[in-house]
Amino acid sequence: ASTFDVDALRNDFPILSTKVHGKPLIWLDNAATTQKPKPVIDRLSYFYEHENSNIHRGAHTLAATATDAYEAARNKIKHFINASSYEEIIFVRGATEGINLVAASYGRHNLNKDDEILVSCLEHHANIVPWQMLCAETGAVLRIIPVDDTGQIDMQSYKKLLSPKVKIVAASYVSNSLGTITPIKDIVAMAHQYGAKVLVDAAQAVPHFKVDVNDLDCDFLVFSGHKLFGPTGIGILYGKKDTLNEMSPYQGGGNMIDNVTFEKTTYQLTPQRFEAGTGDIAGAVGLGAAVDYLQHIGMDHIAKYEHSLLSYTSDALRNIPGLSVIGTASEKAGVISFTLNGIATESIGQMLDKEGIAVRTGHHCSLPILRRFGVESTARISLAFYNTYREIDVLIDTLWKLITKTYT
Ligand code: PMP
Repeated sequence: ASTFDVDALRNDFPILSTKVHGKPLIWLDNAATTQKPKPVIDRLSYFYEHENSNIHRGAHTLAATATDAYEAARNKIKHFINASSYEEIIFVRGATEGINLVAASYGRHNLNKDDEILVSCLEHHANIVPWQMLCAETGAVLRIIPVDDTGQIDMQSYKKLLSPKVKIVAASYVSNSLGTITPIKDIVAMAHQYGAKVLVDAAQAVPHFKVDVNDLDCDFLVFSGHKLFGPTGIGILYGKKDTLNEMSPYQGGGNMIDNVTFEKTTYQLTPQRFEAGTGDIAGAVGLGAAVDYLQHIGMDHIAKYEHSLLSYTSDALRNIPGLSVIGTASEKAGVISFTLNGIATESIGQMLDKEGIAVRTGHHCSLPILRRFGVESTARISLAFYNTYREIDVLIDTLWKLITKTYT
């Protein structure tokens, strides 16, 4: 389409012209991390070359410049996910830290013995383990919302699991191992009928389509900058302002205090309350640049293009004898997991790498959902808007070569 020129966009990503084993790199490991466009790389350099300072302190000019850049990035994220105020946007290390923050700060103070936490069977370990740790500390109980045979959350079972005992529901918007898009808005609304808070893991949603926290009405939402074409080491916790201000700080230190005496310390309100110490200032600024870049392209254009590319890939894979796609929900984004009869997933990964094609093999940090489908490992293709039909053709050709060698 005239509005979406993938070849032009690819020129913004220097790493996409790299060769691997003499072959052009085909990066299909976007769910692990995404590549960075020049405007993000340049923004990081510009920050370090011209603006570097610690923030929120110091009387000098660079402190003010760096603080402005950091707070401007917060505002860009606010607009990107349609939050109501900048105070609802907290800079963290990534999705993992965001979930741990909520489990520790909200969970420890609001959960008691025999209260319940619901997570779906689709979750990444980052959205399982912090809740298990919270259960161990509080005596709360973790319950699992099952998925059906397509890899979609079973909403009937979810409905049955809900009760006044449920205090937290934590679920993915998009599964990192199957690509399922869950009915997250309904999940939120149903939990709220019982007064439970909902945390949405949007790590695999934000790179693929517009995410709107106001529309979802979720209490918390997390994602990682590095999966959104931004730097590593920076991510976002969104929370509703009133909920955040009622929560205890996660870590203590500089920046987050209102007043300190040896007798009693008082804390700032959100977001400073949750940003103790010096964070990844340049990373936050770089993430702001990534969001600007994406908004310039338009998330709707990205979603539309990727949707066609994903269907094209699924259709081509289905023709390969012995190949099974795990996860066949009607709504999917970004990810296709598969196994090939008689070929270890590690070998698939190594063979594709020889052709310059990067995919992930293994359990994708979500063992429970793979075991639900009777496997310990899959090969995972994960797309971004800079992938092309040409690249998918090379992938499919290579897989055909792989199976014909095995079969003859
Ligand atoms: N949740 C999901 C759905 C993910 O895909 C990932 C990363 N694979 C995470 C959480 C954790 O993200 P990070 O390692 O960046 O904290």
